[in-house]
Amino acid sequence: MDRPPRTDARADAAVAALAAALAGRVPAHAPGTAEHAALSTTTNLTVPQRPALVAAPRSPQEVADVVRLAGEHGVPVAVQGTGHGASAPLDGALLVSTAEFDHLTVLPARGTAHVGAGLRWSRVVAAAAPYGLTPVCGSAPSVGAVGYLTGGGHGPLARTLGVSSDRVRAFDVVTGDGVLRRATPTDEPDLFWGLRGGRGALGVVVAVDLDLVDQPTLYGGSLWSADVEGTVQAWAWWAPTLPPQATTSLGVMRLPALPGVPEALAGRTTVTVRFAWTGDADEGAAVLAPLRRVAAPLLDTVDVMPSTAIGSIHADPDGAMPVHDSHLLLEDLGPEAVERLLELVGPASSCVQNVVEVRHLGGAASRQPAVPDAVPSRAATWSVFTVGVATPAAARAVADDARRIADGLGPWTRPGGLPNFTSGHGSAWAERVYPAVTRARLAEVSRRYDPGGVLLAGRPFHTR
Ligand SMILES: Cc1cc2nc3c(=O)[nH]c(=O)nc-3n(C[C@H](O)[C@H](O)[C@H](O)COP(=O)(O)OP(=O)(O)OC[C@H]3O[C@@H](n4cnc5c(N)ncnc54)[C@H](O)[C@@H]3O)c2cc1C
Repeated sequence: MDRPPRTDARADAAVAALAAALAGRVPAHAPGTAEHAALSTTTNLTVPQRPALVAAPRSPQEVADVVRLAGEHGVPVAVQGTGHGASAPLDGALLVSTAEFDHLTVLPARGTAHVGAGLRWSRVVAAAAPYGLTPVCGSAPSVGAVGYLTGGGHGPLARTLGVSSDRVRAFDVVTGDGVLRRATPTDEPDLFWGLRGGRGALGVVVAVDLDLVDQPTLYGGSLWSADVEGTVQAWAWWAPTLPPQATTSLGVMRLPALPGVPEALAGRTTVTVRFAWTGDADEGAAVLAPLRRVAAPLLDTVDVMPSTAIGSIHADPDGAMPVHDSHLLLEDLGPEAVERLLELVGPASSCVQNVVEVRHLGGAASRQPAVPDAVPSRAATWSVFTVGVATPAAARAVADDARRIADGLGPWTRPGGLPNFTSGHGSAWAERVYPAVTRARLAEVSRRYDPGGVLLAGRPFHTR
């Protein structure tokens, strides 16, 4: 059961008392201030957040003070890095902004980075590059590194280099009891298990130690074609045949005619094949050749690139906009599933999604890490993610359309979802994403480190 938001006079008094307790100790901002608005803003404008207070601690000890005082005053705590993954309105809660945690140290001799919780992937990628190193990051460099890692993380190199959180060596984290701890495979091992995949359920992470990979360049980019049917059919057959050095995904795209959208792609249904290859470029080109022949590209950006350009492979739109997204996992993408997918989202369909993305998972992403974690659905090999611009006028139609697609793919769908791709919050979200055994262990660990149920993200597990 999710607890209802506390909006009564007692809750208001608790927030006021908490604000008074924080005054002069930790910067805290009330609704109506510019700081509150800036630090609680989200990139999905359909998820406005209304926390009762936003705290911007400047040190791990200040985070611990905030969480402890919030617990003492009965005010639940949420956390935000960049606002790219916001999913709950946060009424009555205190939001901890990690914006001040922008410290970053790259240790090239060890091949690791110490990454503050306020940093985006772009900063980590840029700082590692002079040493020929790179983090195993996500498709969009503007996403927060730590928020991403708490959900596992399936990026453009996932099939080759695995789930991103497999590279975490340690978390510096404040647990719901207001204690700053260091979680590693040997210290606080249950926390270390659940922080990789459990999102913010077990603590407010202030920094991670992360292994980098020796990958100064990639052979990667995207092909774009107007032959949606031929490309989807060929891609679904081709992707499972790829050697481990390749990771690929596909998007059926309906891009509007906007500045920055190439004319050849705007106002029509196209398909894009994303390709990332960590091996020799000539070998990568040979592997991609069959798709290049089928796809008859309108645009072909696949080439040798510095790892700093990894964001160009997916070229995700940046900036805030109202969107509706949905996600499901498929058991199989054989000829029947492909035919159904094309009926549902192809050029002749009624699809109104701007993006219908299919990521090919498996490979290294399906292997359990050396130290077990809470990342669910490792065995899934296909992820489907839809995104539609959801202006007030279009929101209903976009959501109905996403349901139509999910229903149509029902026979091929497997239960579960990847934490980073599954919107929502609360018990329904947790039950969808995590198997019962993982939920039970998250509940046990949450009760141990957060006996008062202070962390909002822990409550769906904690109260079980
Ligand atoms: C354009 C775009 C591209 C994306 N591409 C990928 C991709 O390739 N692969 C992938 O796996 N995901 C991807 N995602 C999803 C993304 O990884 C998640 O939305 C992630 O949660 C964003 O983290 P954030 O810190 O930027 O967002 P925020 O909204 O700040 O945080 C989202 C959630 O992360 C958790 N969190 C954040 N900071 C902390 C912290 N310090 N301590 C504990 N918990 C914390 C909390 O649960 C929080 O509610 C993408 C998202 C976008 C918008």
